[in-house]
Order: sequence, then C-alpha cells, then structure tokens
Amino acid sequence: MTRELPHPLTRALFASPAAPGTGWPGDPATAATPVAQNAAEAAHLSAAAGGLAELDAAVSRCRACPRLVAWREQVAQDKRAAYADQPYWGRPVPGFGDPAARVLVVGLAPAAHGGNRTGRMFTGDRSGDWLYAALHRAGYAALPTSDHAGDGQRLVGLRITAPVRCAPPANRPTTLERRTCAPWLDRELALLEPHLRAVLALGSIGWSAALGAARRRGWRVPVPAPRFGHGAVVELPTPGSVVRLVGSYHVSQQNTFTGRLTEPMLDAAISALDGHERQ
Ligand code: SF4
Repeated sequence: MTRELPHPLTRALFASPAAPGTGWPGDPATAATPVAQNAAEAAHLSAAAGGLAELDAAVSRCRACPRLVAWREQVAQDKRAAYADQPYWGRPVPGFGDPAARVLVVGLAPAAHGGNRTGRMFTGDRSGDWLYAALHRAGYAALPTSDHAGDGQRLVGLRITAPVRCAPPANRPTTLERRTCAPWLDRELALLEPHLRAVLALGSIGWSAALGAARRRGWRVPVPAPRFGHGAVVELPTPGSVVRLVGSYHVSQQNTFTGRLTEPMLDAAISALDGHERQ
C-alpha cells in the first residue's frame, strides 16, 4: 500500500489499492467479504452469490489471477503522472448499473488508469466518455459523463460489465485469465436473466464472452457460433424469453480516434437493442 491520498470528489483519504469497506464511493465490499485466492474459489464464490450486491462485493476482492493482481496493484501504486495526486482503486471492478437491467453492456476489461483508478466500469477515460455520452443520448444514463465513482451517475434499465474484471497489461488478458474470470459473468447473467432482454457486446472479446456465458447458461446459441461484426444481431432464446445480442466496435480510442467507430454508428447499435435498427 502507498501513502494515503484524497479521493478527488469526497476528499476522504485512501491508500492505493483502496482497502475494502473504507468508504470509497460505491465500494460493495467490507473487510469481512470473502476473498477468492484461486480459480476454484472464484467459481465457488460466484456460484454462491445470492444477489448482485453479494456478487459485486465478492468480485471486488478477487485475487484469483496472480499476474493481474500484481499488475493492477503496481499500476495503482505507480500511477500516471496526471493522476499522481489521487488514490487508485486498484481492485477488480464490479458491474455497474441497474440491478433490474433489461440491457447488459459487455466490454473487455477495466482500463489501467480508467476503471482501475476510479473503481467503476468505463469511468475516468476517453472510452467511458464515449460510452456514457451515447447511453445518455439513448436515455439509459442520468449524466453524459462518468468521471469518478460518487459523481451521481446512474444507469436506468442498463448495467455495464466485463468478462475480465482486472486491468490487464496491454489490455490483453490470457486465455487462462479469461477462463478464470468467466464464472463471475456467468453468475451475473443468471441473476439478470429474469428481466434481461438485450446484450450489447463491445468488441469481439465481449461478443465471444457473451456467447460463452449464454451457452453455459443453457440459452440456445447457434452452431457454429455467430461471428462478431459491428451491427451484428443474434436472437438467443432463453428458457423464459429471448435475449437479443448486438455487436458494436469497442469504444476504445483506437476505434474512436480513427473513425472506425463514429457516434452515429454507436447510437445505431444501441438503438438495435430495442429492435430499432436504423437504415
Ligand atoms: S480477472 Fe477476474 S478472476 Fe482474475 S483476479 Fe481479476 S476478478 Fe479475479
């Protein structure tokens, strides 16, 4: 742990990484929350979570992937120069949003100086600026920005998650890390299933992760697996309903700076979640 620094909004002091239950805005865990130390324990704790609050708490303390634990905590201590005066969350980032969501957004993993710094999905970086602005235009987000946990942002009818909850070096989790983290998404999907109607997959990894979780959940996924593409749509019958999976290029700067993903393209993908494909 490093010396304590003031949170940018609350001014409360935190070490980096932030200790659970010490007042970080939105921290779902306490010092008593169980900690998964390996893949088997992550699978056990995720399956045992009786609700999203319990799931979020447990995932936020997970230590099952040694390489990612070391990386996220090292980044939290070293910091980027622009954020040298801030504490970093430095823990796995839980899902964020409406517990009764009918739409789930599945990204890739938290960014080292975005979610890993702020403790909230897609918060505090350019990718998040794009995503929350689009969600606000579509009526899913109370605010057009998401800078820090505790800023008043609120999602309505939508939740944001990722198949890997810890920031990975070079944004590249290994196959083993993706497999180890999968049970957290599996359980999240199961808990959301009663009201879930659509999934927005940001990028091919989010797409594959959503299809994998759907298949393990027992939803009917076509064989061979549908291919990812921007604007791709697949209807996935579940035991009680149908969930519409929509693909979008990821909101990464690589895509938004180069014009591969434009605001109208992202807006169109979000519209397709309701079955309103634009021409
Ligand atoms: S990536 Fe997932 S499974 Fe691995 S340590 Fe982070 S939360 Fe745990």
